[in-house]
Amino acid sequence: MAKDQSSGCENTVKIVYSREMERRYPTNPVENADRVALPAAMLGEFQFIEPLAASLEDIARVHGIGHIERVKSSGLYDAAALAAGGAICAAELSLEGEPAFALIRPPGHHASANRAWGMCYFNNMAIAVQKIRPKAKRVLIIDIDLHFGDGTVSIFRADSNVKIVNPWSVDESFEYLRMDQSRYLAQVKEAFLGFDCDIVGVSAGFDTYLEDWGGLLKIEDYKEIGRAIREGAEEKCRGRRFALLEGGYHPDLGWCIKSFIEGFR
Ligand SMILES: [Zn+2]
Repeated sequence: MAKDQSSGCENTVKIVYSREMERRYPTNPVENADRVALPAAMLGEFQFIEPLAASLEDIARVHGIGHIERVKSSGLYDAAALAAGGAICAAELSLEGEPAFALIRPPGHHASANRAWGMCYFNNMAIAVQKIRPKAKRVLIIDIDLHFGDGTVSIFRADSNVKIVNPWSVDESFEYLRMDQSRYLAQVKEAFLGFDCDIVGVSAGFDTYLEDWGGLLKIEDYKEIGRAIREGAEEKCRGRRFALLEGGYHPDLGWCIKSFIEGFR
């Protein structure tokens, strides 16, 4: 893959994106094209990389054929395969030493091997992780979406080389109602404790945002989260890190993403 020689900064985050991510498909109307189109327009200072769709072979490493057929018959296959391809692209860039943020939809962290729900069809994170597994055996996944990433957890349940941390997610514990931003950030930092990894993947949902459903994190808190993950990755795995868009439904989503990337870069 061509390296960006023009910026003079080899450690700048790449944005994985395609205008095809803006296509319409049958899903909950809150999960619409503006979720990626508006942030993309705000990230013009970064280099964009256009992904290819994930192959059937890539998808089938994670999902059963029956599940894949159901996604096909629901008219979601092309969109979901492109999102998964964006996730693979971000993970591969990260392996090459280029941190990346994949601005993709539909999201993936609720999709398990044989079930789609919660606006998720293919598990983008799991497909990316399994694709790069020959080169990155031990993987830390930090899921900062408001909702518990049940699909990702179910896929890697028996895999001791994958550690998944969901800081204070709503379905796991209602503790989040009693916490503040500093405790959330502490949970992100603690994700790195006691586990040596070859790469860090972030399921980057932004619905914990103050004005979104979660009502907790301010825009500037995402910069601190991004920074904490960058510093953890630099300490543990030579800075190898990538992030995939999951949830986030408020019109400020672009500001949240931009803030996260400013810390993650
Ligand atoms: Zn969510």
